[in-house]
Amino acid sequence: MSSDYKHILLAVDFSKDSELIGRRAIDLARRYDAELSLIHVVINLKGPFYEHIMSSLSEDVEEEIIQLAKQQLQALAQRLDIPTTNCFVELGSPKVGILKAVEEHDIDLIVMGSHGLGGWDSLLGSTANAVLNKAPCDVFAVRLSD
Ligand code: AMP
Repeated sequence: MSSDYKHILLAVDFSKDSELIGRRAIDLARRYDAELSLIHVVINLKGPFYEHIMSSLSEDVEEEIIQLAKQQLQALAQRLDIPTTNCFVELGSPKVGILKAVEEHDIDLIVMGSHGLGGWDSLLGSTANAVLNKAPCDVFAVRLSD
């Protein structure tokens, strides 16, 4: 069985190290001659954490946030020289959104930061830890220092 990666997914939370993590993903994609895609998951403000205060949030506001995320992701893709057609935006929990994209796009390697906006409490951030626990493929965590 070949150990070459064919489709790499770069998970982006737009924290300050996103570009650095992106460069590492590009390097890996070049080495393996793999396709590279980007994902950002817009956290669902109407989900259980915020349902009491956000349940009246209008559909328009939610759609506007998704559109802004798409624009930012496409701008990052252009800076990294990745086709904008390889940008995916999901709504929900970051772990679920990333794993959904893994299934839908036959991803065989996820590249993410060891920490992001989730903070620095432990060796891995909460999203990195959750994805690593459930991913059906390899996960490359770019080690970041605070
Ligand atoms: P965290 O574990 O939340 O501190 O974040 C670690 C890494 O998970 C980040 O560097 C990103 O690669 C990824 N990540 C976190 N949140 C998101 C998100 N909303 N969408 C996509 N990737 C994310």
